[in-house]
Amino acid sequence: MPSDAIALSNASIDRDAQFDVVIVGAGFAGLYLLYRLRQMGLTARAYEQGDNVGGTWYWNRYPGARCDAESLAYSFSFSPELEQEWQWTERYAGQAEILRYAEHVADRFDLRKDIRFESKVTRAEFDATRSEWRLETDRGDRARARFCIMATGCLSVPQRPNIPGIDDFKGKLYQASLWPRRETRFDGERVGIIGTGSSGIQAIPVIAEQARHLWVFQRTPNFSVPACNAPLDPNWVAEFKRYYREHRSMHKRGAGSGFGDLEIVPRERAPAAMTAAGMSDAEIAAILEQYWNHGGARFMGAIADSLMNRETNRIVADFVRAKIRSIVRDPATAEALCPTDHPIGTKRICVDSNYYETYNRDNVTLVNVAHDPIERVTANGVATRDREFPLDTLVLATGFDAMTGALQRIDIRGEGGVRLLDEWAAGPRSNLGLMVAGFPNLFTITGPGSPSVLSNMLVSIEQHVDWVIDLMEAMRGKGQTRVDTTPTAQDRWVDHVNQVAAQTLFGEGGSWYLGANVPGKPRVFMPYAGGVGAYRVICNGVASRGYEGFVFA
Ligand code: NAP
Repeated sequence: MPSDAIALSNASIDRDAQFDVVIVGAGFAGLYLLYRLRQMGLTARAYEQGDNVGGTWYWNRYPGARCDAESLAYSFSFSPELEQEWQWTERYAGQAEILRYAEHVADRFDLRKDIRFESKVTRAEFDATRSEWRLETDRGDRARARFCIMATGCLSVPQRPNIPGIDDFKGKLYQASLWPRRETRFDGERVGIIGTGSSGIQAIPVIAEQARHLWVFQRTPNFSVPACNAPLDPNWVAEFKRYYREHRSMHKRGAGSGFGDLEIVPRERAPAAMTAAGMSDAEIAAILEQYWNHGGARFMGAIADSLMNRETNRIVADFVRAKIRSIVRDPATAEALCPTDHPIGTKRICVDSNYYETYNRDNVTLVNVAHDPIERVTANGVATRDREFPLDTLVLATGFDAMTGALQRIDIRGEGGVRLLDEWAAGPRSNLGLMVAGFPNLFTITGPGSPSVLSNMLVSIEQHVDWVIDLMEAMRGKGQTRVDTTPTAQDRWVDHVNQVAAQTLFGEGGSWYLGANVPGKPRVFMPYAGGVGAYRVICNGVASRGYEGFVFA
């Protein structure tokens, strides 16, 4: 990593501190937890490895970093005042604006005083005799609490590629998800980038505008749709905000991912997308064109069965491949950019600004490393089997150990000293993505088994936190101090998650949703694909039946 990667300064240390709740992480989940726990009158401490709030938006400062969910939906709903006063400037907010928003939330609700920054939790152990969790951080903090809540994020552990020689590189080396804080420019430089997922696809057009030459080392192409990002018209936003409560309600209860229908007047029942079988070829082409021109990941919702039916999926994929061929002038480059190895949408669809257009620039070259593999990084650049590319700067946009990576890097020990690492050796298992059997009083916010990465994260975070807070309130009312989920309830939920996934094409994608990008990681489809509305109904049902599947003491 560059020596100027985000620098950590000193912070004071907790010594045998006692709280009602300890939280790991001060991203959006950690912030909302602190807010709710304080409302409930509980003491809480959040430990955060960065020196500021924001989680993923703190670390991912790479050029072009931008949310692929629309700002007016990707924001907290818990405070009508907050949502009215905060002014988003673009349809899709950039990293800096989202980080400012997280900072604003922390300051507005005075949350920082309960956060210990620059403290990475290394160990969390359940003490069964006292029914409490003991935490340790890399800075020597020691804390105890009745409850421990993991707000560690789904994409917070960078995955460095296993390419020999990376540390020998003498030029500037950046990793997208650990980008330095200072402004970085590439003027006059020969730049190489490895990785063409969402991060690479966002960074490439911005780097290309500055670099003398940019080589994109692509192993597998991804599908990308245009964001059609634009400044937000304040008058339109003011009008939209008159209906914000109704919009939020629809985002939470809808059948899909919780992004909603961002038209000014919320429609209680947005017209349901039809399956391809119910449409003529001309109608299919027209609706795909309409969604493409509208922009954004909602493209995958244009036709209802595009992630369920292989033939529909092929039609949608063909449409995008035709777009790529129509945009990219060099036929060989266009062909290399056309994904053929996975059904569209089974790897997270990318949302870009001028990605394919960038390959029409004279200073950008696509290097197809599927054909000419990278053999090593040298002191001067990247060496493929056939040639060496001298570089001033190398950017790694090679993804994350997603969903389980952050949890498994903490030495988490439950009842009887059982390690989470061992429990999940064959893949993560949980009840509702919220609790793991044998780990009493431990909750995972947007954990594997919940809609998480298939949803609007802010919707899922609020729903999870509210559900956990309600559970704690119920326990407090009954004087209970310990909750666990039963192995039977956990097995039932894991089966359900698998059954829902089996109705989709997700299993074929070879994606990070399956852990396929991390060598040796068990191939298990981790998120719940049933949609945020259905998931909320299930969680509420569990609660209304006296927390069915959970045991209290
Ligand atoms: P990613 O989707 O996992 O992409 C990683 C890329 O690195 C892939 O192209 C992969 O190629 C390549 N790669 C990895 N190791 C390599 C190697 N040894 N040699 C050559 N290529 C290698 O990671 P990401 O782009 O960081 O995105 C991860 C997720 O983060 C996204 O899917 C999204 O959910 C989230 N994200 C969101 C936004 C947004 O909101 N706009 C932005 C960025 C990220 P292979 O496919 O061949 O392995």
